[in-house]
This record gives sequence, structure tokens and C-alpha cells, in this order.
Amino acid sequence: LIILGIETSCDETAVSIVKNGTEILSNVVASQIESHKRFGGVVPEIASRHHVEQITLVIEEALQHAKITYEDIDAIAVTEGPGLVGALLIGVNAAKAVSFAHDIPIIGVHHIAGHIYANQLVDKLEFPLLALVVSGGHTELVYMKEHGHFEVIGETRDDAAGEAYDKVARTLNMPYPGGPHIDRLAQVGSPTIKLPRAWLENSYDFSFSGLKSAVINTVHNAEQRGEMIKPEDLAASFQASVVEVLVTKTIKAAKEYGVQQVLLAGGVAANKGLRTGLENAFQQLPTVKLTVPPLSLCTDNAAMIAAAGTVFYQKGQRSSFNLNGNPGLDITIHN
Ligand code: ATP
Ligand code: MG
Ligand code: FE
Repeated sequence: LIILGIETSCDETAVSIVKNGTEILSNVVASQIESHKRFGGVVPEIASRHHVEQITLVIEEALQHAKITYEDIDAIAVTEGPGLVGALLIGVNAAKAVSFAHDIPIIGVHHIAGHIYANQLVDKLEFPLLALVVSGGHTELVYMKEHGHFEVIGETRDDAAGEAYDKVARTLNMPYPGGPHIDRLAQVGSPTIKLPRAWLENSYDFSFSGLKSAVINTVHNAEQRGEMIKPEDLAASFQASVVEVLVTKTIKAAKEYGVQQVLLAGGVAANKGLRTGLENAFQQLPTVKLTVPPLSLCTDNAAMIAAAGTVFYQKGQRSSFNLNGNPGLDITIHN
């Protein structure tokens, strides 16, 4: 079973070929980071234009790397949403064009379902499971009782974790995307600066905007007093707050929901502090298997979309030519 995955929800034009939902035959990612850097974030119009320029080339390259032709493809899985509407449309329309020209079925995939299914490319999924999704636009705990069934048990009430990383990085004058820079800096600093943790009582929800403001205030207050704060200590303190809340809530939910496995997903899953924090915490919970994808499968890619698409294909899901980019798509469309 061979699935062609297409992902264009943000600033990566990505195409991948995945066999049987687990084996990557090719995984091409054309990143636009360099074009957006000077604006300090993704500019939607520029993203759409790059996708248009790249998509055909990236599809060709993915087929070549995998050494297959259109005839070998059983279905096309494409990110339908959420994301930037103009960016999504390029992927969706490319998928429709290939579908029409070669008579191949299409499956619209939720981007976050893709992030979660990146884990299937490295490990067998065992249900029920819990996914900690931490990305540029999402921070949520997703419970899955079986394949293709998603229940969001908690989510951020304001900023996503990745968004908080990028804003804090900006305050420290680091280039976009700031997450990896803060992560690197945090590893050489000490978490000596007192910063808040948003527990939100007993819920599984998250909040990072208060933490982000506390970091910004700390920097401004220090500047006003002419004091020197070590950026590495601030990065380490910020990361300690983020990781402590994420790890504590994940462990609590894993116990309460009695899951077999916990998956880490989304761009912030590349974070060294979070990966180490979860690995240490789950040593105390040996009955639960922790799966953490390699860095290349944490940030946006199309292999994850193809992996998720394989599962939905096997469940009989198909999209029509009415398929459209949907920036506000809900993950429960797959349930
Ligand atoms: P979404 O998946 O919610 O639609 P997105 O696709 O834009 O959003 P991803 O590509 O999944 O987000 O992740 C990008 C985010 O991950 C950015 O905010 C980036 O700073 C963050 N990120 C990447 N690497 C790291 C890291 N090592 N530490 C912290 N954050 C990181
Ligand atoms: Mg991106
Ligand atoms: Fe993403």
C-alpha cells in the first residue's frame, strides 16, 4: 500500500511516499524559512507564492527518490487544515490535479493527526494512547482509544508552546523560528530566574501567555535598572517552566486514562529539554511506553501526512473533488 503525502499548511512545501504506513520511501521538504526570516515570522502571501513555485518540483523529486511512478500510488493524502488558507489551497489543488490526471483517490488529513502519526514511522502504536502535541499553533493532550479516533482532553487557552518560544526568542533578539535557538541556549544556562507556571487547577489545559509576559517584563525591568541578565539563564528558566508543566500534566493524564503509550508530537517535540524531561519522568512509569520521533519528523513534513492518510485510507475514508483548504478544521473529522 503506497501513499503519496502532500503538506503545505505553513512554510514547508513537503511531499513524501510512504509504504504500508510505516516505511518512508522518500521524504522531501523544501523549507521557506530563509524567505520569512527577515520579517520575523511567516508572511502568508510569500508562503503561498513559494508553494506554487515548488510543489510540482517537490512532487517529482519525491517520486524519483522513491523510484516509483504515479501508477504505483494507491492514494494521495493531503493536509486539508488547519493552517494558512492560501498555503493549504496549493497542496489541496496539487492533490486534486494528480488525482484527476491519474485516477487516484484523495484523502484530506488534519495536520495535527499527521503530527501524531509521525510516531507510527518509528514505533508500533498501542492503544489506548495519549499524544502530547506541541507545535507552532497547537498545544494539546489528545487521547486515542483506537486508530483514527481523536479526543482532545486539554488544550492551550492562549499561546501555543512554539509560539511562546518564538516570541521569547524575539525578545532576546534571536532569528525566527526561535525555538531551536532558545533550546540551545537553555542547555548552557541555569534555571535561576523565578518564572510562573500556569497549572489552571486540575484541568489538562495549558496557558503560556503569562509566562511569555513574565519573560518580557524580566528583560525590560533589568534593562531599566541597568542590570545584566544572562540570556542563557533566562532561556533555561523559561524552558524549565514550559517543560515542568507539559511533563506534569502528561504524566497525570497518562495515569488517569490508563494508557499503554505516550507519543510526543509537533515542532516543539524537537526540544531537547522536553525530550529529556519526558524520558526521565516516564522512567517512574515503566508500564507506559514513551515514543519520541526523530527531529526530522517533529517539524512539518509530508511523511507524517502519508502515515496518517494510510490509516484513514484503510478505514475507508475518501475525499471528493469538493475538498478545500480549511484553516479551522477540527481533528474530530476523522473519528
Ligand atoms: P501547527 O503544527 O500547530 O500547525 P506549525 O506547523 O507552524 O504549527 P511546527 O512546524 O509543527 O508548527 O513547529 C514549529 C514550531 O516548533 C516553531 O514554533 C518552532 O520554534 C518550534 N520548535 C522547533 N524546534 C524547537 C526546539 N528545539 N525547541 C523549541 N521549539 C522548537
Ligand atoms: Mg514550519
Ligand atoms: Fe505543524
